[in-house]
Amino acid sequence: MYDNKKMFILGMARSGFEAAKVLNKHNCTILITDMKEQDEEKVKELKQLGINLIITDKPEELLDDSFDYVVKNPGIKIEHPVCLKAEKLGIPVVNELEVAYHYLPNNVKIIGITGSNGKTTTTTLTYEILKKANLPVHLGGNIGFPMCSLLNDLKENDILVMEISGHQLHDFYDFKTDISVLTNLSPVHLDHFKTFENYKKNKKKIFEHHTKDDLAILNGNDQEVLDLTNDIKSTKVYFSATKKCDIYLENKAIYYQNEEIIKLDEIRIKGNHNYENIMCAIVVAKEFNVSNETIKEVLNEFAGVAHRLEFVKRLNSREFYNDSKATNVVSTIIALKSFDKPTILLLGGLDRGHSFDELLPYMQHVKLVVCYGETKERIKQFCDSNHIECYQTETLEEATKLAYNLSKENEVILLSPACASWDQYAKFEDRGDDFKRVIETLK
Ligand code: ADP
Repeated sequence: MYDNKKMFILGMARSGFEAAKVLNKHNCTILITDMKEQDEEKVKELKQLGINLIITDKPEELLDDSFDYVVKNPGIKIEHPVCLKAEKLGIPVVNELEVAYHYLPNNVKIIGITGSNGKTTTTTLTYEILKKANLPVHLGGNIGFPMCSLLNDLKENDILVMEISGHQLHDFYDFKTDISVLTNLSPVHLDHFKTFENYKKNKKKIFEHHTKDDLAILNGNDQEVLDLTNDIKSTKVYFSATKKCDIYLENKAIYYQNEEIIKLDEIRIKGNHNYENIMCAIVVAKEFNVSNETIKEVLNEFAGVAHRLEFVKRLNSREFYNDSKATNVVSTIIALKSFDKPTILLLGGLDRGHSFDELLPYMQHVKLVVCYGETKERIKQFCDSNHIECYQTETLEEATKLAYNLSKENEVILLSPACASWDQYAKFEDRGDDFKRVIETLK
């Protein structure tokens, strides 16, 4: 499909770099552009392959109608000047996954996991269970490795478990999964998608090209999910931790099609949201005939993914939790629901103009808030107007130290910032690591 074509790769990152190497193997003429200077080793590698890399903040000036495709990095906005120019010139814009899809070996089974929250946890669990069952499974997509980088390792009949972000779904055309999971839907990333309607329509693409031979694993208690997937062609399996569905909770155990799979006390991670993530992984595992024993073995051990309500340390009878991944209010609500002890909440980060009001009903046990970063003024206003004690600092380091100084025994210090990290950190993992680093300095 892309063999011998002229490709314009917008944005290098890991996915652009890997896509370039795959396309190069297929005799494409390639131009990659990026705004930032790139890693020397990578630049050298591209040069040796004869791939042209240009660092520019006006990449649109380099695009003309001699190009066959634009390969866009998923993080770059849809209305980027290159995309607008491509549209005018009639050049299709695709992403790295779409490129990789066309070069897959035969009969690779693709499991695509998307949703507003729970993608990484569900993807990791699904992968761990299939791996424990000795199935030929690979982890890719938004988590792990770009799909293009897996092509060398993938063989016929392998299984690919992929976390797929909304951004990645946008530039799909032919890409099709065999099993799609939609964990839940809430209005996040609206800076990118503008409206919730657009965001949902985009998510629906994970069921595109499905027939009744493909499986959709759906949140049976999420009206948005039910409405959106009403007319998809897939065979549907519904899960819920709060309502009887195909897979559900009863008598403190998870049941699938009325068979008990695992008791809740055999599961290490807690919370209804996690039980729902587990349910999705169980349905996939059952499709591949994995035994209940294998499922139990994994769930007995799985302690959650780093930065997702991760227990960090107990220090002088205070418990520190790192939920740096909570980049929106919905995730912070889930974290707040997981505790009933007095809690000091660290909030702050990039200002997307979003409201914090929705947190209020879940803050009865929040003793005080320490806020930092770009959103600190607005968080302070929110707290003041709701009579919640609140302190402002510039950085997370100061906020963490202050929270510790203000804490008492048996209290929880929770970083669940309800904002993206990009005002002060390159990614949420760096923010969570910084939090953990500061905790190690406390006495
Ligand atoms: P994602 O990859 O979609 O961002 P993660 O698995 O990384 O999701 O979890 C991020 C945060 O979202 C968690 O810390 C938790 O607060 C919340 N979360 C996880 N699973 C669910 C779920 N099934 N429903 C709602 N919220 C969830």
